[in-house]
Amino acid sequence: MLTIGVDIGGTKVAAGVVDENGAIVENALRPTPADRPDLVAETVADVVKELSRGKDIEAVGVGAAGFVDETRSIVRFAPNLAWREEPLQKKITELIGLPVVVENDANAMAWAEARFGAGRGESHLVCVTIGTGIGGGIVIDGHLYRGRWGMGAELGHMQVVPEGRLCGCGNLGCWEQYASGNALVREIREIVANQPERAATLLGLAGETIEGEEVTEAARQGDEAALAAFASMADWLAQGMADLAAILDPGRFIVGGGVSRAADLFIDRTRETFERVLTGRGHRPVADIRLAELGASAGLVGAADLARRR
Ligand SMILES: [Zn+2]
Repeated sequence: MLTIGVDIGGTKVAAGVVDENGAIVENALRPTPADRPDLVAETVADVVKELSRGKDIEAVGVGAAGFVDETRSIVRFAPNLAWREEPLQKKITELIGLPVVVENDANAMAWAEARFGAGRGESHLVCVTIGTGIGGGIVIDGHLYRGRWGMGAELGHMQVVPEGRLCGCGNLGCWEQYASGNALVREIREIVANQPERAATLLGLAGETIEGEEVTEAARQGDEAALAAFASMADWLAQGMADLAAILDPGRFIVGGGVSRAADLFIDRTRETFERVLTGRGHRPVADIRLAELGASAGLVGAADLARRR
C-alpha cells in the first residue's frame, strides 16, 4: 500500500508517493504560498491529487515546521508561515477525502532516519537537524517521542548560556544560537569585528555580508577565523549532545540538516569533545554520532511512513 508524504517548507512544498520500504515512487513540487498561509492546505491538496492519479493511496502525512498539537491535527504556531492554531489536518482532509496526519518536520525527518536511514537497527536515537536553527527528533524504544502536548524534542531551545545570545524564540542563550548555521555566521562576524587579520581568506571570498557558504569555503581553504568558528560550533554541539545523553542515554545521535553537508569541518571534533564531556565517561558505552543518510527527502518520507502507521 502506498502513502503520500508532504513536506511544507518556507519556499516549496515537496511531496512524494512512498512505499512501505521508504522508497519514493513519484514526486512533485509546488511553490509555498508563503504570503497566503491560508492557501497552503489548497496547495497540499492540489499536489496530493496530482500524485494520487491512478494510484491507490491509503493516507497522507504532512510535515511542517512548528508546534503541532498532540492529536497531530493543529499547527499551534509556525514561525515561517505565520500560522496560529491552524486546523491543517481538517482543512486538507476536507479537500482530499483521505486520512491525514500532521507532524513536526524535524520529527518526521527523525522518523525517516530511524526507519530507513542512519538510525536503522538502533531503538534509542536522538536526531539533531542543523540548519539556520536546530531541529530535533527523539526515538525511544522504537517509538517517536512527542511529549505530552506534541511539543517535545525542541532541542534547539535548551538554554546553554545563561543571559546568552538572543534567540528567535524570545529567550536568551538557546543551544541553536551556538551550534547552528546562524551561530556559525554569528561567531565569525564577531571574530571579524575584533580580529579581522585572522579572516583574510574569508574576507577575500565574502561580499558585504558574510554567509554560511563562504565560511565553509574559507574553512576548507584553511582560513583561521572560519576554522575557529567551526571548532566553536563543534564544541557547543558536543556539549548539548552530552547533556541530552545524560537525560536520554541514546545509542546513537544522527546529525542532519543543511549544515551537515559541511560535516567534514566539524564532526570529528564533535565526537572528540562529546567523549570528553560525557558524564560517566569511561564507565558507559559511548553513543555513536552518525550523519543522516536520507538528505532533503527525509521529511516527506518520514511523514508518509507516520501516516501509514497512524
Ligand atoms: Zn530559543
